[in-house]
Amino acid sequence: MKEMITVENLNKSFGDLHVLKNINLAVHESDVICLIGSSGSGKSTLLRCLNFLEKKDSGTIKIEGEEITPKTHNINEVRQKVGMVFQHFNLFPHKTVLENVIEAPVMVKKIPKKQAVEEARALLDKVGISDKADVYPGKLSGGQKQRVAIARSLAMHPDIMLFDEPTSALDPELVGEVLATMKELAEEGMTMVIVTHEMGFAREVADRIVYMNEGRIIEKGTPEQIFENPQEERTKEFLKTTV
Ligand code: ADP
Ligand code: MG
Repeated sequence: MKEMITVENLNKSFGDLHVLKNINLAVHESDVICLIGSSGSGKSTLLRCLNFLEKKDSGTIKIEGEEITPKTHNINEVRQKVGMVFQHFNLFPHKTVLENVIEAPVMVKKIPKKQAVEEARALLDKVGISDKADVYPGKLSGGQKQRVAIARSLAMHPDIMLFDEPTSALDPELVGEVLATMKELAEEGMTMVIVTHEMGFAREVADRIVYMNEGRIIEKGTPEQIFENPQEERTKEFLKTTV
């Protein structure tokens, strides 16, 4: 199967703080990887390196088999292939939902506006908020905002989607609708790397779980292996804290 993301010996420090220590990871086409671990373990930094929002110190990152560096590639083009959804949505507050979704296709990809609008409406329908196309983000619930953010990311037709704690800022009763949208994407075969604290979701939807601690990948395996039969002491300790 096609390797969509290949990370080899990735290291990243912020000053004296060594945040990613020799990370190795392979993500295949249609894989759903859930990245778990306590706060400060380097999960966001890893995702941000995969989307080139952070610059690695050493190691290699390949996207669809090709090594990517800012010298050899236009990072903005790479980011079109690798969509990212953040904890805090990052919608444009002065644009309607529809305008948020068509912004990048029209401005960056130069898609004709009429076509972008049609696609955006279909995407809003897919994430279950077609009735909100003309309202401003301020009028939406957190769950609706996050679904708009997902639609906006999908509008660029990414091959890979990265999610950084997409439900952590939501009221508990709104978490389910966002997870349902993500599950649907997973079932359609989207390649996804998801940082999450939703262990029920991870267990149900992930093909593989990656547990990080203090900048290292401690253990990876199927949900069954990690949740039922973790091998490492640190994994066991972490899982105790999540129930
Ligand atoms: P996680 O997402 O697992 O909570 P992060 O990747 O956000 O972890 O952070 C890992 C470590 O790197 C933390 O100690 C954090 O304080 C530090 N860190 C993250 N971003 C920066 C930054 N821009 N500058 C300095 N330190 C940072
Ligand atoms: Mg984080």
